Amino acid sequence: MLKLRDYQVKTIKQVQQSMLHGHHRIVVQQPPRTGKTVIMAEIARRATAKGNQVMFVIHRHEVLDQAIKAFKQQDVDMSLATMGMVQSLTRRVNKLPPPALIFIDEGHHALARSYRRIIDAFPRAYILYFTATPIRTGHNQLDQISDDIVVGQSIQWLTKNGFLAPFKYYALSDIDRSKLRKAHGDYSTNSMDQAISHQIYGNIVRQYQRLASGKQAVVYCHSVESAKQVVEQFRKAHITAEEVDGSTPAKQRDVIVQHFRNQQLTILANVNLFTEGVDLPNVDCVIMARPTSSLSLYLQFSMRCLNPRKDKTAIIIDHVDNYLTHGLPDDDHDWRKAATTRDKRKKTGTDNGPAIYQCKYCFGVFYRKDMHGNRCPLCGHELRSTVQDYKIVNVDLQEIQHRKSIAHKIMTSNVMANVAGKSPGQLKSLAELQAYAKLHGFKPGWAYYQWKNRRKR
Ligand SMILES: [Zn+2]
Repeated sequence: MLKLRDYQVKTIKQVQQSMLHGHHRIVVQQPPRTGKTVIMAEIARRATAKGNQVMFVIHRHEVLDQAIKAFKQQDVDMSLATMGMVQSLTRRVNKLPPPALIFIDEGHHALARSYRRIIDAFPRAYILYFTATPIRTGHNQLDQISDDIVVGQSIQWLTKNGFLAPFKYYALSDIDRSKLRKAHGDYSTNSMDQAISHQIYGNIVRQYQRLASGKQAVVYCHSVESAKQVVEQFRKAHITAEEVDGSTPAKQRDVIVQHFRNQQLTILANVNLFTEGVDLPNVDCVIMARPTSSLSLYLQFSMRCLNPRKDKTAIIIDHVDNYLTHGLPDDDHDWRKAATTRDKRKKTGTDNGPAIYQCKYCFGVFYRKDMHGNRCPLCGHELRSTVQDYKIVNVDLQEIQHRKSIAHKIMTSNVMANVAGKSPGQLKSLAELQAYAKLHGFKPGWAYYQWKNRRKR
């Protein structure tokens, strides 16, 4: 049996408290990589020890075996546990022994019809929705199927207390975000093909060598084709690299993953695979070459490298500006509010995170509060005079084309002409910030966010 960490014990107590207050359907928020399966297993052990039937509903096949292993390890009475994937449980929902307690893993999916069928079939059961990100795209939120939420420790707290590794975050903008289009809740593969610069592949290797040379890295790609390109470029630079995706035969995938675990392989590129579940303990660097509009995926990608080890600092390299959509991975979120359907939310101002800056010298991204005076906390460069320092790192064809398209936009607008070549810190009005945002393809909220923060200063 595993001994639980203090914060895991605290979460279990909070769940019990919530049940004592009469709640039956509770969202349990826990950040990625902090052991939510262990928490579920311990609650299941206690429930089955009292003779209660439990059910465990999971979203992805790869994770099921690990969950069963964790439940057994924690001494759950498996004769009282029904564990399976949502699709298979839904199909035979009428034949299943009625559970007193249902665990739903990746609970942010639970508004989908397949889950609803299970939830509705057992109206008297307690239900715990476990998720790192209790939020959905669209109108309805998890409060539609829950009556309380228990929020876990923040990522900053977990880092400060040694449960997650600290990280450095760099952003490289090898993408034209105006070309991204959404389909089925995330960007379409076709639009990602359009948006991602073909120069990205060489740049991924150059930036890896500059920022994380020698570290084991997982690369998140948007297509099999791009993952293969990434591998080819790394091999050209004599760095061992392999690619796995949904079509890789299971045996071959296991061999590659094992090589990575044994540190015989430095770079592991993948397409939609290493999100939840698959255990890769020694990842020290994450390279994002795939944009996502899903906060859940963003946190799963970026936090993949945060397993702690003595003196480790993880490196996150974001080639597709995911931070402009989601902030940094350790931004605090108001999960209670996020889980509330929009028209029920109290109006409490906008939900912007803390001010984020980017150093144009090292491309590091960081909170303003972490700045050392006017200096970049990652490279020590003075930030005010950095506007023109872009060229020091990598001026390649893509950068030049990017400048050309900016030049064209400038010629068609006075305000834009006025802000071109300035840094955000030199902009004097909201209109200028908006023009700057447009010029650089930032989302419109960026300008308001900068303006608001500036006025607080
Ligand atoms: Zn810097």
